[in-house]
Formats: sequence, structure tokens, C-alpha cells
Amino acid sequence: MTEQTPVICDACATIATSPGNTVPHQHLQVEGEPTVNADGSFDTNYRCVECNTLWVSHTDKWGCPGGFQLLPNIKSP
Ligand SMILES: [Zn+2]
Repeated sequence: MTEQTPVICDACATIATSPGNTVPHQHLQVEGEPTVNADGSFDTNYRCVECNTLWVSHTDKWGCPGGFQLLPNIKSP
């Protein structure tokens, strides 16, 4: 069985290895409108124009950024 390893660019790799990183790098573009959650927090989707990696940043209801997480299973064709 071959495991598919996603290829991400250096800028995304920096985010991936820095859990506390809350600043989107220059190749990240916001995708659509933020998703507002029931508790008042919201999630903003980003796509990297370099490597097409999808990220979501979580912001709590006080507006404090919670960093980025990969969206590994959502790949656009
Ligand atoms: Zn990237």
C-alpha cells in the first residue's frame, strides 16, 4: 500500500511545524466567508496558491487567533 504524502511548499511547511503560528504566509488566500460556530468562534479557510494546500484558522469568540490547521482530506480537483 502506498501512502500518499502531500507535497507542501516551504511557507506551508513553516506553518505546519509552528503550531503557534497565527499569521498567514504571503501565498495564502482566504477561501470564501468565515464559518461562524455556535459558540461565537469562527473558522477561516485559506488556500495556498503555491501548493494548493488548504488550511483553516480558528479564531475564538474574543477574536484571539488559535493558529492554523491542515485540512488534509479536502483537495479540490
Ligand atoms: Zn503552500
